[in-house]
Amino acid sequence: MREIGHFIGGKHVPGTSGRAGDVMKPMTGEVQARVALASRSEVRQAVENARAAQPGWAATNPQRRARVMMRFLDLVHAEYDALAELLALEHGKTIPDARGDIQRGLEVVEFAIGIPHLMKGEFTDGAGPGIDVYSMRQPLGVVAGITPFNFPAMIPMWKFAPAIACGNAFILKPSERDPGVPMRLAELLVEAGLPAGILNVVNGDKEAVDALLDDPDIRAIGFVGSTPIAEYIYARGAAAGKRVQCFGGAKNHMIVMPDADMEQAVDALIGAGYGSAGERCMAVSVAVPVGEATADRLLEKLVPRVEGLKIGPSTDPEADFGPLVTREAVERVRGYVDLGVEEGADLLVDGRGFSMQGYENGFYMGGCLFDRVRPDMRIYKEEIFGPVLSVVRARDYEEALRLPSEHEYGNGVAIFTRDGDAARDFAAKVNVGMVGINVPIPVPISYYTFGGWKRSGFGDLNQHGPDSIRFYTKTKTVTSRWPSGVKEGAEFVIPTMR
Ligand code: NAD
Repeated sequence: MREIGHFIGGKHVPGTSGRAGDVMKPMTGEVQARVALASRSEVRQAVENARAAQPGWAATNPQRRARVMMRFLDLVHAEYDALAELLALEHGKTIPDARGDIQRGLEVVEFAIGIPHLMKGEFTDGAGPGIDVYSMRQPLGVVAGITPFNFPAMIPMWKFAPAIACGNAFILKPSERDPGVPMRLAELLVEAGLPAGILNVVNGDKEAVDALLDDPDIRAIGFVGSTPIAEYIYARGAAAGKRVQCFGGAKNHMIVMPDADMEQAVDALIGAGYGSAGERCMAVSVAVPVGEATADRLLEKLVPRVEGLKIGPSTDPEADFGPLVTREAVERVRGYVDLGVEEGADLLVDGRGFSMQGYENGFYMGGCLFDRVRPDMRIYKEEIFGPVLSVVRARDYEEALRLPSEHEYGNGVAIFTRDGDAARDFAAKVNVGMVGINVPIPVPISYYTFGGWKRSGFGDLNQHGPDSIRFYTKTKTVTSRWPSGVKEGAEFVIPTMR
C-alpha cells in the first residue's frame, strides 16, 4: 500500500499523528493509498520550517524567482502523461480531462512568470516641493492554501504560483481525497530550484486546517471548497487577523434564448453539465430555456444526448465522464435525484441505476435530467455536484435574468443567443461574478481574475490575475523629501502637498 506523508523542508516526511485516511481509486472502488492526517504539532513544524526559509526567498530577485517557475513548467510538461494518469486515478475524472486540470493550473504559473513586472510599484516624482512618493509591494511572509478535491492540480497551482512568485513561503493543505498530484508538484518545484521550505505540503483534515487558522505566523489563507467550510474559514481566519479569501459552491445557470443555435446550446449543456461527472464549480447545473417553445425544442434534442452519454472508467479514452470521487458522493447525488422526484420535478432521464460492467464496485452514476424544476425546490436551491441537470422554464427574458441574479450562489452564468443587444444587457445586469456569452464555462483566462459573487465567494480579491498579486503582497508607501536650501521650523498642521 502506497503511504503518503507530508512534504516539508524539501523532502517527504512520514506522518507521526497516528491518524491516516484512505485514498480511493474511484474507477474500481478500491483503496489505493493511505494518506497521513497531520496533527497540530506537525502543522507547526511545517510553518516554522517555512518561516525560516522565507526571508532568503523574498530577498532573491524577482527574475530569479520567475526562472524557477519557468523550469517548473518544463518539468511538468516532461511528465504530463504520468501526472494526468495519477490525477485521474485518484479523482476519477477521465485522463483528457485530467490533462485540462493540469493545463489550467500551468497557465497561472505562466502568468506568475511575469512577476518582475507584476510587482513593480508606483512612483510620483515631485508630489510636493522636493517630495517624491513611491509604493512597493512586499510579500506577506508565510501564507497557506486549503484546496478541494475536484481540481487537485489546477487549484493548488492557482494558489502557490502567485504566492511564491511574490516571495512568500506557502503551506498547501490539499484535499485528503487526492493528494498524490499536489505532492508531486511540490517535488518538481524543488527540482526546479525552489529552496526547501518555500512550498511545504501538509496533508490532513479539519485538525490541520484549524491549526493553520490559529497559527500566528500564517499571514493569509486562500481557500476553495464548499460554501459552509468557506464561511467557517473566512470567519475564523479573519477573527485571527489574517487576510482571507474563500471560494465556495455554485449553481450555474445557462440561459437559452429563443434565437440561440440549438445544436450549439445542446453541445454546451452536455459538456458543461456532465463533464467531470458534474464535479466542477463551474459546471452548468441549471438550464433556463426562455419560452415554452424554446424549452420543447431544447429538450427534444437534449434528452437523447443525455441518454447517450458514455460513462466509463477514467482510463477509457472514449468516456464522456468517469466515476464520482467517493461512494458517499454517489449516495448524496442519488439522494438529490430521489428528492427531486418527491418535490414534483419531471425526471426525464434517470441515471440512478447505472452500473459499470466489469467495475461494479466503482463510484459510477448515469446522467440525470429534470424538467419543470421550480425555484422553491431544494434541488434548485442547493448544489448537487453530480451529473444532474435541471431545466427551469422561464416565461421571458426578464425572468431568465432574475433567476441567477436572485440565487444565493453567484459563481458563473451563461447566455446562449444570437442577439448582441440581449447578451450585452444580460452581462451588464446579471448579479453573478463570471459570465459567458455563448461560452458555457466562462473560467477567465489566467491574466484576468476568477471569483464568484454572493455565497460563492468571501473576501475582496479574486484568484489569479492582478488580484492574486494584491492578495499575496502588502503595499508600503514611502513619502520622501531630501531638503535643500532653507529649512523651516516644526509643522503643526497636517502636511499638505503645497
Ligand atoms: P470541502 O469543502 O469538503 O473541502 C475543501 C477543503 O476543506 C479540503 O481541503 C478539506 O480537507 C477541508 N475541509 C473539509 N471539511 C472541513 C472542516 N469541517 N473544517 C476545516 N476544513 C475542512 O470541498 P470539496 O468536496 O473538496 O470540493 C467541492 C466543493 O468545492 C464544491 O462545493 C465546489 O463547488 C467547490 N469548489 C469551488 C470552486 C470555486 O472557485 N468557487 C472551485 C472548485 C470547487
